[in-house]
Amino acid sequence: MALIEIEGLSKLYPGGVRALEDVGFSVEPGEWLAVMGPSGSGKTTLVNLLGGLDTATSGRILFDGIELGGLTPAEYTRFRTEKVGFVFQQFHLVPYLTALENVLLAQYFHSMTDEAQARRALEGVGLGHRLNHLPAQLSTGEQQRVAIARALINQPRLILADEPTGNLDEENEAVVMQLFHKLHREGHTLVMVTHDPVIGRLADRRLELQHGRLAGITIYHEERDELVDHLLQEVWMLREGNQSPEIAKLRRTAVLDVGGTLARMAERGLVRVENSHVLFTPVGEERARDVMRRYRLAERLFRDTFALGDSEAEDTACKFEHIISPEVTDRICRFLGHPGTCPHGNPIPPGACCSRAG
Ligand code: ADP
Ligand code: MG
Repeated sequence: MALIEIEGLSKLYPGGVRALEDVGFSVEPGEWLAVMGPSGSGKTTLVNLLGGLDTATSGRILFDGIELGGLTPAEYTRFRTEKVGFVFQQFHLVPYLTALENVLLAQYFHSMTDEAQARRALEGVGLGHRLNHLPAQLSTGEQQRVAIARALINQPRLILADEPTGNLDEENEAVVMQLFHKLHREGHTLVMVTHDPVIGRLADRRLELQHGRLAGITIYHEERDELVDHLLQEVWMLREGNQSPEIAKLRRTAVLDVGGTLARMAERGLVRVENSHVLFTPVGEERARDVMRRYRLAERLFRDTFALGDSEAEDTACKFEHIISPEVTDRICRFLGHPGTCPHGNPIPPGACCSRAG
């Protein structure tokens, strides 16, 4: 049975803003669902409804078989504290309490205080050495890890995270994403709002909102070919920028299981790893070329032909590159007149259609 079933969910704010309209989907236990979409598309509204922080205008949310709309205010509060752990963009720690006290406070709301357990929760997020630090004495990544320990203290059925890395620099983002990755492997159910396609790709499924409507759901396969392509792309771009393709340099890929993915790529004959450097095999080189070509042609198409803005074109190209076949890639290339560069001026590797065109 699904952990969460949502049907026809709509939210109309006072003043007439339709933040959500007729949204329906389900979440399986143990699943990691990424909620994506532009700013204002209803992501936070959806998460707040799921977590019982707000009520819907119409539609149903069944959580563990219980319909949230039928709960009394007191039952809502109980639902929130017992079933859901929240992680927000602004960590929401109490500034004058230590890390340990912040977690103890959360326990207090669950009518239990067990210091040993709170300690273990902080150790579990790698903060055993920061128990008595105040939030201001912690890095942003450490503060978010305290917030995650706090969210986990009651072993909630669902972890809801609203742009949990939105206030973090890349290094801290990687640490926090690794932690979510670990929670997922341990079987937690995660619903996470994110703007970041790289993070979105870590999830099992990606749900896309646009103007409050469900614009699509992408399912990832075991194979995770997109991760493979992503790493190929990263290595390609390092080389293009005359940087040595060290594993450590793979931009922001610390959030992925880089080692594991590279090992599988090596098994499939796509790369070789030598002295912590990633080298393409001829097969990998060819595939990386194709990926770059598809991606940059898609970027051109979206920027030039559909006049999307730069970041929007990049985002859309990111999703699009994985679904276009070689034939369609060549057709786009011909349509665009075999362009030599992407909108950022980087070279588009030529394809068979280009050489025929002379
Ligand atoms: P997102 O998280 O995707 O950026 P939100 O769910 O926060 O989007 O907002 C969706 C829409 O609802 C936006 O147009 C926003 O301005 C509006 N909105 C959000 N909260 C309220 C509120 N409390 N009252 C009125 N309008 C709101
Ligand atoms: Mg939001």
